[in-house]
Amino acid sequence: MGIASINPATGETLKTFDALSDAAIAQKIEQTDRAFRHYRHTPFADRAQWMQRAAAILEERKAEFGKLMTLEMGKPIKAAIAEVEKSAWVCRFYAENAEAFLADVAIETDASRSFVRYQPIGIVLAVMPWNFPFWQVFRFVAPALMAGNVGLLKHASNVPQSALAIEEVVRQAGFPDDVFQTLLIPASKVAGLMEDDRIKAATLTGSEPAGKSLAQACGAQIKKTVLELGGSDPFVVMASADLPRAVETAVTARMINNGQSCIAAKRFIVQDSIFDEFAEGLAEKYKALKVGNPLEPDVAIGPLATSAILQELEEQVQRCVDAGAKVLVGGKGLPTSPSLPPTGTYYPPTILTEIPVDTPVAQEELFGPVATLFRVANVDEALAVANNIPFGLGASAWTQDAAEGDRFLNELEAGSVFLNGMVKSDPRLPFGGIKRSGYGRELGREGILEFVNAKTIWIR
Ligand code: NAP
Repeated sequence: MGIASINPATGETLKTFDALSDAAIAQKIEQTDRAFRHYRHTPFADRAQWMQRAAAILEERKAEFGKLMTLEMGKPIKAAIAEVEKSAWVCRFYAENAEAFLADVAIETDASRSFVRYQPIGIVLAVMPWNFPFWQVFRFVAPALMAGNVGLLKHASNVPQSALAIEEVVRQAGFPDDVFQTLLIPASKVAGLMEDDRIKAATLTGSEPAGKSLAQACGAQIKKTVLELGGSDPFVVMASADLPRAVETAVTARMINNGQSCIAAKRFIVQDSIFDEFAEGLAEKYKALKVGNPLEPDVAIGPLATSAILQELEEQVQRCVDAGAKVLVGGKGLPTSPSLPPTGTYYPPTILTEIPVDTPVAQEELFGPVATLFRVANVDEALAVANNIPFGLGASAWTQDAAEGDRFLNELEAGSVFLNGMVKSDPRLPFGGIKRSGYGRELGREGILEFVNAKTIWIR
């Protein structure tokens, strides 16, 4: 398919791009490395001013950038605009806090003075996915540039215009030339880049195979990686929960971004005594969701981002059904609306129940508007089902019983646990996974510390 913007709501190709030649890639690496040599010495105050300006540009142009994302990958327009606002938030957060996060930390020893000083390392390569085209990039760019690092972006091949728009925001904000550049290249070029000594580290948000491939390439060169990979987050609802709120939140938590979010709740694990009530409540709300053109403001669910994603989801749902799952709502063969263009990649909101927990597809991530429901007897069984998955990104548990709540907080295997709330990212809180969801953290103080040299200083 190459590097191209294709509107998933219609199938129309909006714009295609040629991949950079090897010579052009080499030139961009050279420019970015050269930029680092002076950028690393810029004061925090200057970086913060540029970052605040980037936030202001995002806010001023949120409608334009929101529409761009919706056209490239199909997210509902309101959510796209909110994503631009959130990207501005992360810029402001690091503009205001980076200097304090990276201040020297004194440690008493036998020296007259000893401390840790955090210094930038150089070019960090960011490999990013299409599902939050602005947010994923800004949550890398903001801490990276505030720390004095420089960045190269390899964005997903279906959102090239978003990638170029982000580069333009950084330039317009007043940052020195070349501190952040987009490389329009195919995925096959990424591993080779890591052989270049000037690229010091890499961060990747995306699928497990992509993460594994990049981490292998970095391992061979002894270079650090942060990996934010897939998830199949549990959403556990116990009998003591506030059921109406849990049901309401379950819809948002599953349907965010047309169901294509790493931290979307994907497996609903519900205590037996309230299972039917929960399932009926969810089904009613699913049926009321408006599926359609994501540029229309009242549309809740747009198309999936690409035809490949649609095909994979259809195949996964079929495997669930073959294994014995029952389709409560939606599913294959139920058209969402005859008015939708047949070339659009739409999939109806779907609920599956009675999936055998040990069938292989129950271990996979379903990237689309499909909720899977599991019935459990008690907290032990809820934890067992929740943790019976190779992923460990986020987890949400609903209970008003303090002892149960403690067990979920302590025993759910995930990078974050939200009690009586939906898992979400927030610039102030570290974000990341365990198990096959990856390692390392973005956001918060932890995020900015990933790509710095924590230099120990000892003075007699
Ligand atoms: P993907 O195929 O892995 O693509 C993500 C990025 O990696 C794209 O830029 C892609 O480039 C590149 N890529 C693909 N194969 C690569 C390889 N072998 N080496 C280097 N780079 C490679 O991911 P996706 O399927 O589009 O995105 C959805 C996945 O991302 C889901 O699993 C989701 O859960 C995960 N995700 C995780 C987080 C998180 O924070 N943990 C957030 C969002 C999404 P091309 O587009 O050119 O192939």
